[in-house]
Amino acid sequence: MVKWVYMFTEGDATMKNLLGGKGANLSEMVNIGLPVPQGFVVSTEACTQYYSDGEVINEEIQGQIMDAIGKLEEVSGKKFGDSENPLLVAIRSGSRASMPGMMDTVLNLGLNDDVVEVLAEKSGNPRWAWDCYRRFIQMYSDVVMEVGKKYFEELIDEMKEEKGIVEDEDLTAEDFQKLAGQFKAEYKAKVGEDFPADPKVQLMGSVKAVFRSWNNKRANVYRRDHDIPHHWGTAVNVQEMVFGNLGESSGSGVAFSRDPSTGENKLYGEYLTNCQGEDVVAGIRTPNKIELMADDPHMAKAYEDFKVISKKLENHYKDMQDMEFTVENEKLYILQTRNGKRTAQAALKIACDLVDEGMIDEKTAVSMIEPRNLDTLLHPQFETAALTAATPIGKALPASPGAASGKAVFTAEDAKEWEAKGETVILVRMETSPEDIEGMKAAKGILTVRGGMTSHAAVVARGMGKCCVSGCTEIVMDEANKKFTLGGIDYHEGDIISLDGSTGNIYAGALPTMDASIAGEFARIMEWTDKYRKMKVRTNADSPEDARKARELGAEGIGLCRTEHMFFEADRIDAFREMICADSLEGRKAALDKILPMQQADFEGIYKALEGEPVTIRFLDPPLHEFVPTEEADIKKLADAQGKTVEQIKTLIDSLHEFNPMLGHRGCRLAVTYPEIAEMQTKAVIRAAIKVQKDHPEWKVVPEIMVPLIGEVKEFVFVKNVVVETADAEIKAAGSDLEYMVGTMMEIPRACLTADAVAKEADFFSFGTNDLTQMTYGLSRDDAGKFFESYYDANIYDNDPFVKLDQVGVGKLMEMTVELAKPVNPGIKIGICGEHGGDPTSVEYCYSLGFDYVSCSPFRVPIARLAAAQAAIKAGE
Ligand code: ADP
Ligand code: MG
Ligand code: MG
Repeated sequence: MVKWVYMFTEGDATMKNLLGGKGANLSEMVNIGLPVPQGFVVSTEACTQYYSDGEVINEEIQGQIMDAIGKLEEVSGKKFGDSENPLLVAIRSGSRASMPGMMDTVLNLGLNDDVVEVLAEKSGNPRWAWDCYRRFIQMYSDVVMEVGKKYFEELIDEMKEEKGIVEDEDLTAEDFQKLAGQFKAEYKAKVGEDFPADPKVQLMGSVKAVFRSWNNKRANVYRRDHDIPHHWGTAVNVQEMVFGNLGESSGSGVAFSRDPSTGENKLYGEYLTNCQGEDVVAGIRTPNKIELMADDPHMAKAYEDFKVISKKLENHYKDMQDMEFTVENEKLYILQTRNGKRTAQAALKIACDLVDEGMIDEKTAVSMIEPRNLDTLLHPQFETAALTAATPIGKALPASPGAASGKAVFTAEDAKEWEAKGETVILVRMETSPEDIEGMKAAKGILTVRGGMTSHAAVVARGMGKCCVSGCTEIVMDEANKKFTLGGIDYHEGDIISLDGSTGNIYAGALPTMDASIAGEFARIMEWTDKYRKMKVRTNADSPEDARKARELGAEGIGLCRTEHMFFEADRIDAFREMICADSLEGRKAALDKILPMQQADFEGIYKALEGEPVTIRFLDPPLHEFVPTEEADIKKLADAQGKTVEQIKTLIDSLHEFNPMLGHRGCRLAVTYPEIAEMQTKAVIRAAIKVQKDHPEWKVVPEIMVPLIGEVKEFVFVKNVVVETADAEIKAAGSDLEYMVGTMMEIPRACLTADAVAKEADFFSFGTNDLTQMTYGLSRDDAGKFFESYYDANIYDNDPFVKLDQVGVGKLMEMTVELAKPVNPGIKIGICGEHGGDPTSVEYCYSLGFDYVSCSPFRVPIARLAAAQAAIKAGE
């Protein structure tokens, strides 16, 4: 019989896959003797089973859950539905990877009309008992029956209005009792049946709801963004309740063992007295700084205990911890710990500090940094001068660093819509909730009126690496009219504002930004990555400026230099169009001769910027029709210049039209039709290389010429012959001994399938995984966005295969290519230059295939360096 359920005492921290992160850590904490309420975990496998059984919890699993309840009743001395000592539990989700706030929690389960009376009487605290009951009905309705929270919140607001009070705190036992009655009526009205009184029914309903919540929209979006596979499933934790809402000597809070924004080694947290669950992060009441617990006689002891436990947990996990706690009548309970989410800046500082404190070694430090997190540091900051000159219109909490300017919008939907229209927006909200996730993603920055550094907005923004300023209470919000007032001035939807997530400052208008650089702890970590990294990291760069930037960020060469944009520049496009329009070979050659010196100058610039590091230059790739004019005036101009009629030019343009240009006359096919183009490009490359080599004998310039889009070895050989003939003649004429390589882009499945034949001819392969993905899936990258959403919703795709390399299908082609190529050409260099070259999991995969390098856009170079180092460390090298 499969074991589906584990008591906390049976688990430990290594069992994350089975018990989920939360369950494994709760078990671990129980084992090391921390004050954690007892409970058990229904495994992630039970979740997977639930889905394969057609979304039902089978008998066996139900049986094991009930057995575990029995054990919990034994250890706690309490009983479900008991009239003496009733057991109340929390039902908590928890997958392998933490997904804060993405799935659901039900607290105070086990209450019904009888149990609430027992609790009210035995405790002498009826307000507490009824508060728990109304919370339970509310959460159960929302989570299990999917009756929107808002109906219940409206009832609370009505009640407060009637009584003329503002704070929940001022509601009495009678008020909560009345609310509980109203909530049950609301439940019946919405669901069509009575609120379930039997704790066992409540329990199964809640476990099922947590399993179901694994598949909710926001969880799916979050998983896609964090590379969490759908098939992992979530575990369910069933845990005895402890109560932070028993009065002023109780409370609950969240804390980080170090500052998650800066990394400073200082306990950082927030708490509220007399509250429960998510109240601290929900932004309903503004929480207190955790240090203030020391001044509160009811909390001082719990605070001392918490500080000790925080250090203990940090030492135990050897990483910064994010902890949740509850104080029940002055006694501290720990409800959760996990490695805390942090800003990139904090991640670097914490990793370096932990090394300096002797807690971890360099390899561990490198491994603990989330590569995609570096993104924020590589993005622009506001210019120092502009910041000094500007006067902020307001200041709030620096919840997540970065600089953002954009148009103010007031709803998540608007953020999404405006962004889709190409606008840059700042999402301004009272507070955010998990429903806002997609809008937050679409926004450049987030500004909230309520909520602390651990509020939903802050935590999620930091996770996304997105600038966020939270808790700006001076803002007077007018959501209905889509405007807010700050410092006496109104800001309407569409008005531009700027946020500095590192200081919390808010500015009117847009501020200029400057590029980031690698210094301090960032530089130190990058040094370590280079120490442990085996695979090279190159960049995709088409200009000397991009190449220089990329080298500053650590690129060790260019993996892809596209040449097409070079023809678009004002002084060349005319000559290029002349080439396209020419009626004869002589005409084409004459036009190409005009371009040759300019193209040579382009390459000289690039070789100089690279100072002898390798450069792969790809020959012309797009179909020619992309270069011809579309505007009437330009067509006329071209006709005049060519001594042709507008009609003749239009006929020519029509003749270039293709139904399927991506699969049309492009790549090496152009060079087969017009070898003179390849000839000209070869001359330009070789002449540039010879010149730069001569000027800089200290460098070794070895051109790498890349033929795009081959599907048949003979195509490659045809173009290669043109290249070799031309190059050899150039080298001979110059009396040079320049070496060069000719290779190909692997981007058509047939090239991969025949890689052994191609490898005999090619000096290198570079996987163009954009086209390779497109052609392997048979779907167009430029059009797929329109229907991918339905694919995600239907769980057909976990991710966009153009962002994250599809290791199953496309990867199989790549593996096969490597296996076919190496035996016939052991010295062949293999790399990747598609967009995937900067995606951390794809980088790891390329490493596992034994690639010589990955190549990515300049700003992703540090991410790829880190991912490559992590791959090497993980592989134990
Ligand atoms: P999430 O994963 O969204 O953080 P949790 O399962 O941690 O959800 O639950 C959210 C909150 O509910 C916790 O931070 C805590 O305040 C409260 N909570 C969870 N379990 C218990 C419990 N056993 N007793 C009291 N409060 C609890
Ligand atoms: Mg939690
Ligand atoms: Mg391509």
